Amino acid sequence: MTHDIGFIGLGNMGGPMAANLVRAGHRVTGYDLVPEALRQAEEVGVRPARSAAEAVRGADVVISMLPAGRHVLAAYAELLPAAGPGTLFVDCSTIDVADARAAHELAVTAGHRAVDAPVSGGVVGATAASLTFMVGAEKEHFESARPVLEEMGRKVVHCGAPGAGQAAKICNNMILGISMIAVSEAFVLGESLGLSHQALFDVASTASGQCWALTSNCPVPGPVPASPANRGYPAGFAAALMAKDLGLAAGAAEAAGLPTELGRRAAQLYADFAAAEGAGLDFSAIITTLREGGK
Ligand code: NAD
Repeated sequence: MTHDIGFIGLGNMGGPMAANLVRAGHRVTGYDLVPEALRQAEEVGVRPARSAAEAVRGADVVISMLPAGRHVLAAYAELLPAAGPGTLFVDCSTIDVADARAAHELAVTAGHRAVDAPVSGGVVGATAASLTFMVGAEKEHFESARPVLEEMGRKVVHCGAPGAGQAAKICNNMILGISMIAVSEAFVLGESLGLSHQALFDVASTASGQCWALTSNCPVPGPVPASPANRGYPAGFAAALMAKDLGLAAGAAEAAGLPTELGRRAAQLYADFAAAEGAGLDFSAIITTLREGGK
């Protein structure tokens, strides 16, 4: 089924996601505050709108890919009255669980349907249409969103009620952020004990220390040729984005009265790194600060 899609936020992620929807045959009208982002989207077949409201007029599906919760809530204030009744709003941004629930509530109150569908897979996944979508929605709204999400991703998981997609996203990234620090600390300790990177990798990757941070995004050069560590840590997943996601996890834990001690400590380490030299580097470059800290 072909849809009229309004796409708000055509940045690093939204741009290629919108391009994949065009490629799949949908009519996509887009809007971004940055003219260059809008121009690039136009080049791949997105019809440019002069305002967010204009982008959603006549759309039956509205997708947003914006930096943070405050941007989504501000955009919804403009979009909800401009959209036709019963429009399906799909927010793919990574935002606070509470903001996601508030956005859902606003959409439903305005007579629309809404799902949260944050993603994993980064710009590479957005470009290759291989993202994983974590969806929070009522079952029937999930089923309505699924075919459109499948044009932009390889895996679409219904995580539960509205907000559950964001909850899954920040819990997963809390595991990833902590495990990358655990792997990094182990390599740094191994170095000081005279253990080669390869020897530690050969043992841990086939033993109980095995995890994605070690076997796919290894923070030291050598054992995993494709990992950013081999090329000076260009961002696959930037430290600044990891800091953002762990900040959201820490905020959610605080609201729930949970200590999540390692999650909070990891959030602080990535935030400090991102505020210094690490913002644009891959999050695995956190290992460089762990070595310095030991000097
Ligand atoms: P980005 O900064 O490249 O893009 C965001 C775009 O939104 C910008 O072009 C900005 O101009 C636009 N924008 C902001 N407010 C707007 C408004 N009111 N109306 C229209 N456009 C507006 O960011 P990104 O990397 O594309 O990330 C987008 C979201 O995806 C974030 O929530 C991020 O956490 C999440 N995410 C990013 C990655 C990644 O690897 N980049 C991975 C997973 C999830």
